Amino acid sequence: MPIYEYRCNSCETNFEVLQRTNDTKKTLKCPHCGTQDAKRRFSAFAAMGTQKGTTKNTDT
Ligand SMILES: [Zn+2]
Repeated sequence: MPIYEYRCNSCETNFEVLQRTNDTKKTLKCPHCGTQDAKRRFSAFAAMGTQKGTTKNTDT
């Protein structure tokens, strides 16, 4: 089973949820504040190329 990373829009807590692929429509609750307003984050794979602090110097 894949683990998905979510980020609470209310308190900005990041948490992981074990889900089956057909369970993604389920409403998620933030374990910290209980708000049902969480967004799925990009996977670790995708996040590798877009790390914080990485500045693109395309306009020189
Ligand atoms: Zn929260």
